[in-house]
Amino acid sequence: MLDSLFRPKAVAVIGASTKELTIGNRIIRNLTEFDFKGAIYPINPKGEEVRGLKTYRSILDVPTDVDVVHMVIPAKLVPQAIEDCGKKAVKFVILNGGGFAEVGPEGAAIEQACILSAKRNGIRIMGPNCQGIINTDPEVRAYCNFTFTRPDIGFISIVALSGGVAELIHQAFSEMGVGTRLYASNGNACDVSIPEILEYYGEDEGTRVIVLYVEGLREPDKFLQAAAKVAAKKPILAMKAGRTKEGATAAASHTGGLAREDISTDLIFEKTGILSFRDVSELCNAAVAFSSQPIPHGNRVGMITNAGGPAVISTDELVAGGLKLAHLSDRTVEYLKGKMYPEVGLHNPLDVLATAGPDHFRAALDAMVGEDQVDNVYVNMVTPFFVDTDGIARQVVQVNKQGIKPLIVNLITDRRQRGETVRILRDGGVAFYSMPGTAARAMAALNRYNAIRSRPAGQVRTFDDVDRARAEAIILQAQGAGRKMLSAAEAYGVLQAYGISVADWRIAQDAAEAEKAAAEIGFPVVVKADAESIVHKSDMGGVAVNLKEAGAVRGAVQEMSQKLQAEDMRFFVQKYLPGGREVIVGAKAEEGLGHLILFGMGGIYVEILKDVAFKLAPVTNIEAQEMLSSIKMAPLLKGVRGEKGVNEKALVETLQRVSQLVTEFPMIDEMDLNPIIAFEDGSFVVDARISVKR
Ligand code: ADP
Ligand code: MG
Repeated sequence: MLDSLFRPKAVAVIGASTKELTIGNRIIRNLTEFDFKGAIYPINPKGEEVRGLKTYRSILDVPTDVDVVHMVIPAKLVPQAIEDCGKKAVKFVILNGGGFAEVGPEGAAIEQACILSAKRNGIRIMGPNCQGIINTDPEVRAYCNFTFTRPDIGFISIVALSGGVAELIHQAFSEMGVGTRLYASNGNACDVSIPEILEYYGEDEGTRVIVLYVEGLREPDKFLQAAAKVAAKKPILAMKAGRTKEGATAAASHTGGLAREDISTDLIFEKTGILSFRDVSELCNAAVAFSSQPIPHGNRVGMITNAGGPAVISTDELVAGGLKLAHLSDRTVEYLKGKMYPEVGLHNPLDVLATAGPDHFRAALDAMVGEDQVDNVYVNMVTPFFVDTDGIARQVVQVNKQGIKPLIVNLITDRRQRGETVRILRDGGVAFYSMPGTAARAMAALNRYNAIRSRPAGQVRTFDDVDRARAEAIILQAQGAGRKMLSAAEAYGVLQAYGISVADWRIAQDAAEAEKAAAEIGFPVVVKADAESIVHKSDMGGVAVNLKEAGAVRGAVQEMSQKLQAEDMRFFVQKYLPGGREVIVGAKAEEGLGHLILFGMGGIYVEILKDVAFKLAPVTNIEAQEMLSSIKMAPLLKGVRGEKGVNEKALVETLQRVSQLVTEFPMIDEMDLNPIIAFEDGSFVVDARISVKR
C-alpha cells in the first residue's frame, strides 16, 4: 500500500542544504512553498537552519514518526542512512540522487545493498535516481520532488520512470491550465514499481485519468495484471518510446531501463485496454480531454463553426480518426429555424457565421447536445473583435458544465488580447486547443477509448480433445536428447496431438521408402529434405512439389541426396495441396510474458511482405478473428474477383489451438507453421518448425 508515500504526514530530507540550487534545498523549498500539510524535517550533520526550519543532526533526533525520507547524499552513504531510518520506523525512502545501477556495476552493488537494508528494515524505496512524488490533494499538498514546475491541482495522474518525461507532461498540463493530481517518477525503480503505482492511482478517487510513459516493461506479467484491473476502472493513456533501435539504445544507457525494439508492450496495452499514443503532445492533449469530458457513446460528431477552412481541416482529421459527421434530424433543423442568421445553412457542420454572438452559439450548442444523431460536439471558435467572444465562451462553459456529451473546442484567438475569453474557458473546465487537428485528435482519442471499452470481451477456448501427454512426451524426448529443434516427424506429431490439421505425411529413409509412402498418401505428392541443418528447404532445392508418379519421387530423392549432404538426412513425403491461399501462423516466447502469436500471409515471401498481425497468448475467439481481419490481404481471405474465400472458422480454430499449445507448453520457444494452405473447406499445415528451450 502506497498511502504513506502519497499521503505522508511527515517528511524528512537527509542531506538538507542551506545552499540554494541544490536538490537538498529545493525539496524543502518545494514542500514549504506548496504549503505541505504535514511536518518537514531537514536533516544535516551541521544542524544549520534550512529555509527557516529547525534542522536535526540525525533522523533519530526527529521528535515524531516520519513517513517519507528523501536522501540527497552520496550513494555510498545511503545504505547506512537506510539502516538509521529503520530504527526510526520510516516507511518510504525516496532516493533522489544518482550513482546507482545507472552508472555501472559499482553503483549496482550499492543499489543492491540499499534493497537488502530496506527489506531488513521494512522500508520501501522509491528510486533511486528519481524525482519523487507529488500529491496535489488539498488535504495533503505533498510536493516531495525537486522539479521546477509548481504543481496545479487537477485530475490527471502521471507515472513514469523517466523524470524528464514525467516533468515534461506535468508541465504541459500546467501550461494548459488543467494541473496534475498525483505524480510519480521512480527512476531506476529498484523497489516501488510502475504496476504498484498504477494500482494506487486506480484506487485514488481524485484521479480521473492516468498518464503513463514507459520505455519497456520490467515485469510484464505483473504489469498486465495491474493494468487490466485499473483500466477497467478508469482510462489509462500511455506512450511507449524507444521504438527505434537507436531510441532503445538511448533508453538502455539512460535510466537503466530495459527498452528494446519490442512489440509486446503494445500488445499488452491493447490486451488490457490501455489507450496507446506515439506522440507525447498528442498524449497530453488527449489527457486534457479525458480529465474534463464524458466518454462518448458513439462516433458521430456535430460540428459548430464560425469559420470555413478550420472546419474543413477538422472534418478531415475527425474522419481520419474514425469519426463521422452526424446527420441532423428534422426536429433539430426545425429547432434551429429562426435562431440563426437567415443565410445560415441548417446542416452539419453548422456554420453559424463569423458575426454569430452568444445566443447563436447557445442555440447551436443546445441543438447538437439535444440531437440523438450526435454523440460528440466539436466547436471551431474564432474570436473576431466585432462580437462578444466572452459571452460566447460563457455559453460554451454552461453547456460544457452539463457534461452530457464530450465537447471539444478549437479556439482561434490572440491569447494576449483575448485573455479573458481564454480564462473563462479554462476556469469553466472546457477542453480547448489552438489547432483544428490537435482538437480533432483529442476527440478521436475519446472515441478510440469508447471503442476499446465497448469491445466484446471474447473467450479463450480450451479444446479438450487434445492429447497433452503425447505432445509432452515428444517435447521432453527432444529436450532430453539436447535438441532445440524438433524433427519434422516430432513437430507434426505435436500438432496432431493438438488437433491441428496437417497435410498427410510420412517419413522415408530412402527412395524405396519414399515411393511406398507416396503410394499410401496418393499422388500427387511433395518430397522435402529433412535434416537438422536444413532450415529453408526451398532455398537449397530441398522441396519438390507436384510429383505425379513413383519415378518422379525416386528422381527427387536421388537429386536431393546428391545435392544436400547431411548425416541425418531423411525424406519427408507429403500430400500435394495445390490452389489454396498460403498463410502463416507462428508463436514466439517472450521473457516473463508467455507467447506472442502471429498470423499473416504466408509462404516463402513472408519476410518481404510483412503482412502480419500479433497478439498475446492466450488469444480469445475475437482476437483470433481480429488477426485475420487486420492484415492488409484480409480481402483475399474473403475471396476477391470471383475467387472463393477460405474457411476463416478453420483458421480461427487453428490460432486458438496453437495458442492453447504454447500456453500449456511454456518451453516451446518458437514455432512457425508456414505455410498453412487454406481452402474453402479447411486448412492444412504443410511446413512446421518448432524449437524448444533446452
Ligand atoms: P521452406 O519454407 O523450408 O522453404 P516449405 O515446406 O514451406 O519449405 O515449402 C516451400 C513452398 O512450397 C511453400 O510455401 C508452398 O508454396 C510449396 N509447398 C510446400 N509443400 C506443399 C504442399 N504439400 N502442397 C502445396 N504446396 C506446397
Ligand atoms: Mg515454409
